[in-house]
Amino acid sequence: MANVTIEIDKGSGFCFGVVNAIRKAEEELAKGGTLYCLGDIVHNSREVERLKAMGLVTINHEEFGRLHDAKVLLRAHGEPPETYETAQRNNIEIIDATCPVVLQLQKRIKQEYNRDDDSEKQIVIYGKSGHAEVLGLVGQTAGHAIVIESLEETKQLDFNKSIRLYSQTTKSLHEFREIVEYIREHMAPGVTFQYYDTICRQVANRIPNIREFAASHDLIFFVSGKKSSNGKMLFSECLKVNPNSHLIDSATEIDNSLLEGAESIGVCGATSTPKWLMEEISEAIHAFYASKE
Ligand code: SF4
Repeated sequence: MANVTIEIDKGSGFCFGVVNAIRKAEEELAKGGTLYCLGDIVHNSREVERLKAMGLVTINHEEFGRLHDAKVLLRAHGEPPETYETAQRNNIEIIDATCPVVLQLQKRIKQEYNRDDDSEKQIVIYGKSGHAEVLGLVGQTAGHAIVIESLEETKQLDFNKSIRLYSQTTKSLHEFREIVEYIREHMAPGVTFQYYDTICRQVANRIPNIREFAASHDLIFFVSGKKSSNGKMLFSECLKVNPNSHLIDSATEIDNSLLEGAESIGVCGATSTPKWLMEEISEAIHAFYASKE
C-alpha cells in the first residue's frame, strides 16, 4: 500500500446547479411532509435512491398534471411556463431549484421572443430535442423556437430569414462554434445573424480538466451510470489520454487484477456522479490493499 497513491478528482462530480437542487431537496425533506420532484433530480440512480429513502417522490409530467395541494421541487434543468401555470391552478407549492444559469437563459430567450425587431426571425436552440432543459427553453417562445441537435441539422434552417442562436447549457462548445461558422457562411444578404454562447463552463471545462487528471495516473476508474451521456463523453476523453481507464458504476465492478502492480490510481466521474460514490470506490481500493498487508 505504501507505494500506491489513490486520488479522487476534485473537478468531478455534480455541478453547482445540481448541488444546489439536492441541498434544497434535503432542506425540504428535513421539514417533514411529502416532497415530490418533477423528473429525476439527477441522472444517477444511486443518488435518486438515496433521496428516495429520505422521502423524495419522483413523478413525471402526467402525474404532476393530476396532483393537487402538494409540494413539488423543480430540478436544475428548469421548466416551461405551463408547469408554473398548472401549479397555480392545482394549488401546488413550487420549490424552485432551477439552476440560476438556466433561469437567466430562459429570461434571455423570452426577451428575444418578445422583442419586436424582426417578425420573421428564427430563434434557434442548439440542444437535445426533448431534453427537459430544452423543453423549458422552447416554452419561453410559446413553442416557436427551432431546435437543432447538430451541425448536420443546421443545414435545414432558412438562411433567407434572420437567425438568433442560443445553446442548451451542456452542449459541446466545439460543435457550437462549427454551427456559428456554418450559419455565418450561409446567411443571405440583408438578414441578420446573432449568436449567444450560452454553454455552461461548469461542464465545458471538464474536458480539459479530466484529460489532465487521467493522464497523470497509470490507472483510472471512471465512475458513472452506464446510460449517462455526459459520462460516456467524459469517459471517452479519459480513454484518449489513458487507455488504462475503466468505466464502473459501483465498487463491486472493480477488477482487482487491475490493482496489482498499479502505482498511481485516479478516481473520477461525470457531472451526475455523486462525490460519496467516488469516495466509496476509493475506500474499496484502500481496503483491497489493506487486505494484502
Ligand atoms: S451544467 Fe451549469 S447550467 Fe446546467 S445545472 Fe449545472 S451549473 Fe447549472
